Amino acid sequence: MCNPLDRETSPAVIDALFADQAARALALRRSTVAERRAKLGRLLDALMARREAFAAAFAKDLGKPAVEVDLTELLPVVDEIRHAQRHLKRWMRPHRAAPTLMTLGTSARIVYQPRGRCLIIGPWNYPVSTLVGPLVSALAAGNAVILKPSEFTPNVNAVIGQLVAEVFEPAEVAMVEGAVETSTHLLSLPFDHVFFTGSPAVGQVVMAAAAKHLTSVTLELGGKSPVVVDQSADLRHAAEHVMWGKFVNAGQTCVAPDHLYVHRSVMEAFVAQCRTVLAERFGSDDAAVAASPSLGRMIHARHAQRVGALVDEAVAQGARVLAGGAHDAEKRYVAPTLLAEVPDAARIAQEEIFGPVLPIAAFDALDEVIARINAAPKPLALYLWSRDGAAAEKQRTETSSGSFCVNLCVMQFAHGNLPFGGVNHSGIGNAHGVFGFKAFSHERAVLKGGPLSALKLLFPPYTEGKAKLSRMLLTMLRRL
Ligand code: NAD
Repeated sequence: MCNPLDRETSPAVIDALFADQAARALALRRSTVAERRAKLGRLLDALMARREAFAAAFAKDLGKPAVEVDLTELLPVVDEIRHAQRHLKRWMRPHRAAPTLMTLGTSARIVYQPRGRCLIIGPWNYPVSTLVGPLVSALAAGNAVILKPSEFTPNVNAVIGQLVAEVFEPAEVAMVEGAVETSTHLLSLPFDHVFFTGSPAVGQVVMAAAAKHLTSVTLELGGKSPVVVDQSADLRHAAEHVMWGKFVNAGQTCVAPDHLYVHRSVMEAFVAQCRTVLAERFGSDDAAVAASPSLGRMIHARHAQRVGALVDEAVAQGARVLAGGAHDAEKRYVAPTLLAEVPDAARIAQEEIFGPVLPIAAFDALDEVIARINAAPKPLALYLWSRDGAAAEKQRTETSSGSFCVNLCVMQFAHGNLPFGGVNHSGIGNAHGVFGFKAFSHERAVLKGGPLSALKLLFPPYTEGKAKLSRMLLTMLRRL
């Protein structure tokens, strides 16, 4: 059977692929470091050979500048592959586990075994790094995989589909396409692991479906990631980074700063820096910004209309536009926009914005900001710009989020030695590097008994002597 490349893969084809992958998944349990490395190498070559095809596809699907395609889609996956190739031998090596007092006389190991048949469901905002990125971890861990990209990136999907068909047999890796019905059908199958990247609302649907088969899940979700800029911050540095993290991919980034708290004493100066940076990068009037080749577009008109409406509603409720504000749903365009005085009741203050709009609020005391962060669902990321070590430590210990960055944003996604993931509402489990390898592996406990085991001294019948011995052991263990 060849890889299906039609836009809506039928349930019958999906069932056949799933059945075909069963035997391969068992065989892959025996795959060696060298075999997995070679597979990753072929994936790397096929990706690099399609650099131009990806640039063209991203221009169509997301109006995305080619440099951003390299930086945010290809580089992270290439880095993930090279990192896995370099460290796979160590990751796959069984770990010895020393015996505890109860298990003296035994020998134990932790063995990383492939989970088996895995499903990876991706979103539309970074269709390569959120689909092929986890595929790298799944292959490193020795699994068979079905990939299901978002239905909103058909041009990028076509390139990934060709690549997958070229590099893999469908019994090992196959890509299927479709929307909710396709996902729903896939989720009705007893996969060994589901790795889902998308919204918290759909994450709940995925977890509920997986529960039916007690399938393990990794959920990489989104949410409202706050930024704090305090009075000690290097304001130019903060503005340069936040204006990048917020507006790269037109704000459609899971770890993008969602909204910003700035100390009242530096609010004016910080906003001035942000405006300067925006003008330098995208132009100083509305027409220049709309024509900027460095600015991506919204995924579809409906999303552009939604983000535009969030801005208009906030303004109608009293928010002030500090920069931008223009939007045109038909052109899938929303200008980089800064807002102030957004009321708490406005929809933009409640929902993940997921577009190029940044509400900025002034604060007087860090405690006030920490209380607001703790009152909301735990975010995927929390960012602080500060030169005050004590303030950073306070914010780190008194809040919770998937990741916490000081004087940097978004780049935690690119750090192969850090776990990438959320916490509760923003996600469950981790991706990247050894953490991705573990997500797609079962940590199997392997225990071997020896002739010196004391356990048999306590086998039935439970005589008075054995009761005495067990009491003695308890007293001894407690004291040791
Ligand atoms: P989405 O949840 O709408 O869709 C994600 C995937 O789920 C798509 O493949 C879609 O076809 C499928 N899907 C949609 N509805 C479904 C349903 N009812 N049942 C089963 N499957 C369904 O997300 P999106 O709009 O594509 O992406 C945006 C969201 O993804 C944002 O919340 C963003 O923060 C999040 N995200 C998170 C990360 C991360 O790594 N944590 C990365 C990128 C995006």
